[in-house]
Amino acid sequence: MAGFFARGARAKVKQQDEEAALELRPITHADTMRRIELLDSFENAGLGWFWATDRHGRLIYLSENAAKTIGCDLDEIIGTQLTKFFIPEVDDQKSERPLNFLLGARNSISQLPVRLALGKNQAWWEIAGKPQFDKAQEFAGYRGSAKDISGTFQSQRDADRLAQFDSLTGLSNRHRMNKRLAATLQAFRNSKRSCALLMLDLDRFKQVNDTLGHPAGDELLRQVAGRIERVIGETGEIGRLGGDEFQIMIPDMDDRGELGELSKRLIQMVSQPYQISGSRAVIGTSIGVAVAPYDGIESEELVKSADLALYAAKGGGRGQYRFYHIDFQDGVKHRRQIEEDLRDAIENGELKMYYQPIVDAKTHKLQCLEALMRWEHPERGFIPPSQFIPVAEDIGMIKELGEWALTQTCLQAKQWPVELRVAVNVSAIQFTRDDFPDLVKSVLMETGLEPHRLELEITESVFLGDSERTQSTFEVLKRIGVRLALDDFGTGYSSLSYLQKAPFDKIKIDQSFVRGATEKGNNNPAIMSAIVSLAESLHMETVAEGVETKDELSLVKERGASHVQGYIFSKALSQDELLERLETKDLVYEPRGPDKYRADRKSVYRKISLIHEDHRYNVTLRNLSKTGAMIEGLLEVPLGTPVVLNLGGGQLAVAKVRRSSGYMQGVEFESALISDGADGLCTRHRVSPYQIEAAGRPLSSLPQDPYEMLKAELSGTYKPKAFMEIDPGASRRKNEKPASARADISAALG
Ligand code: C2E
Ligand code: MG
Ligand code: MG
Repeated sequence: MAGFFARGARAKVKQQDEEAALELRPITHADTMRRIELLDSFENAGLGWFWATDRHGRLIYLSENAAKTIGCDLDEIIGTQLTKFFIPEVDDQKSERPLNFLLGARNSISQLPVRLALGKNQAWWEIAGKPQFDKAQEFAGYRGSAKDISGTFQSQRDADRLAQFDSLTGLSNRHRMNKRLAATLQAFRNSKRSCALLMLDLDRFKQVNDTLGHPAGDELLRQVAGRIERVIGETGEIGRLGGDEFQIMIPDMDDRGELGELSKRLIQMVSQPYQISGSRAVIGTSIGVAVAPYDGIESEELVKSADLALYAAKGGGRGQYRFYHIDFQDGVKHRRQIEEDLRDAIENGELKMYYQPIVDAKTHKLQCLEALMRWEHPERGFIPPSQFIPVAEDIGMIKELGEWALTQTCLQAKQWPVELRVAVNVSAIQFTRDDFPDLVKSVLMETGLEPHRLELEITESVFLGDSERTQSTFEVLKRIGVRLALDDFGTGYSSLSYLQKAPFDKIKIDQSFVRGATEKGNNNPAIMSAIVSLAESLHMETVAEGVETKDELSLVKERGASHVQGYIFSKALSQDELLERLETKDLVYEPRGPDKYRADRKSVYRKISLIHEDHRYNVTLRNLSKTGAMIEGLLEVPLGTPVVLNLGGGQLAVAKVRRSSGYMQGVEFESALISDGADGLCTRHRVSPYQIEAAGRPLSSLPQDPYEMLKAELSGTYKPKAFMEIDPGASRRKNEKPASARADISAALG
């Protein structure tokens, strides 16, 4: 029964519903109550809220449900300034605060994300609003709507973060760095500010990644990022562009002295050993530096300059920095040519082995010859191994090159009339290959060279990889009977612990310890003594590398080095030159060289221009030091004359004539030059492209001789030239009186 009744009742209700549905009751504008009901249900459903302010910007209305969702009492909120209630979501790409701006200007607001200042939890709303005006057209406040977008906003922000930051290191990614750099340069252009860009590329990172595995590589990158952050601090913005490439942007920085110091600090920090899940890893870094507006105005141009500088730093051996120079445009071509031509160099017979004597420190008797590779390029002439060996390593040709060097050296050593030892340099990449000991064995067999005559020079970087394998390679090589030397000791990441494990016969003290060691207060001699006594206690010989002068020779002897190698005894000789010498049977070498090393003074021969008053003179730069220069080409310049040397690329060095004799002048710089990261010197500051722009030229990065452009606009006076220009080179070529020229130089030098 009940079932039947219930069914009947349900059917009735359904019928009533259908009738009701048919009865259409639109909400008209006049039906205020039902409109309010509708808005209420809209507000209560959380679909959206309403807000309103008075003419003073104070909240006079907010949907009740909105206050509830953020956990606030509506009474507390009413009367709050809108700008205090909503915090504009500051986008660090834009400096203006849009909400304040819009409100102040009484503009409409549409879809603006804002953060809630009140409430317990972080919440984001999207607001819209329109200014209201009363009948007298007076501003009467805003009416607006809002909706909660916290969920989507947070995930959007996370997505944005992902799109802008490197997930491995937390540094900015390439995309963000590009945007930041472009925005900074654009803004700085108007205010004539400078900005430095440093490009870093890790040396030997691939090796660590390959031997210790990718997770270790990732950990290493994180540690590198941390170290860079510690050096840079708040002064700049750091990004990881991908792989092992980092970029640093430093606003308001154009002092190349400071940039050089900073680069040195970065290189030092990155080159300290790393501890990664129980293994030790050592890498290095090369740095390229470019500065806006000098080396590039637009970000693309600046990045390219920094890249070229990095390229040059890597090409000059590693662990170095370079400032961008206009000549680097050729550097890329040069490296590409090396890459292409190296493949054929062996076949074309362009490579040769040269041999540099290593003598006994006490008797000066020849003990050993170091085999050094030379490449005579048919067009480019001599290319030093420091340039092509790293390329060979990069393009996977080092195995082939190394095999050739080993075979060639053993063959040639076999032809020497005296049984001397020969030392062959072995790249760490070649040394750590599984088949290396077999190669040594077979080359010795084929060439017939006695194993005890062969010495293999390896660098500390062989210890970076798989230590068990390295250890077993040492053992096999010792069993074969060859000798092992540790080259360039002390240059990188010396850990003394492996000296005990590795069966070295010889340690070569790097020439950087010899250079400058004779200067007062230098602590290289103390380090040298320590290396020597350590080596002695391990029964190893020591070679002081790169000895050039008599005072250096006395010093290294006094510090106990058992052997000496350097220009003071001989440069590397060709096989023919060596054979000639060996035929004489005179194996004792005479030290020949200057008494003292003048680190500060470099001989050069370069045409430059000198500026005096409003005139430009052609002179020749004969030597250059940090504090001054020797020039020739002007006659009888009085002492104390102020001049400016135009060293090219916008480098103007203000100087005073301090010595003067005939056509030679010694000038002293007002502010000292600094190292350019390579062998050369440069000025801290350069002529600014903004100055050239001010002189009526369009703004562009520095050409080779920007001074010309400045001068064209600035010179106004027409006083005659004060000095007579001569070309002593030409007159010397005519009457060949080099002795007197030299006398002039020394007179002028004092
Ligand atoms: P290294 O093994 O440390 O060789 C010593 C370098 O110092 C040589 O430069 C030599 O010419 C130079 N040197 C010697 N005495 C003096 C001196 O008194 N003053 C100065 N300023 N320099 C001096 P080089 O021949 O340019 O070779 C540079 C580097 O290239 C070598 O450094 C070595 O690491 C590498 N290398 C050379 N030949 C080979 C090779 O056949 N295979 C491999 N893997 N590397 C090589
Ligand atoms: Mg060597
Ligand atoms: Mg060396």
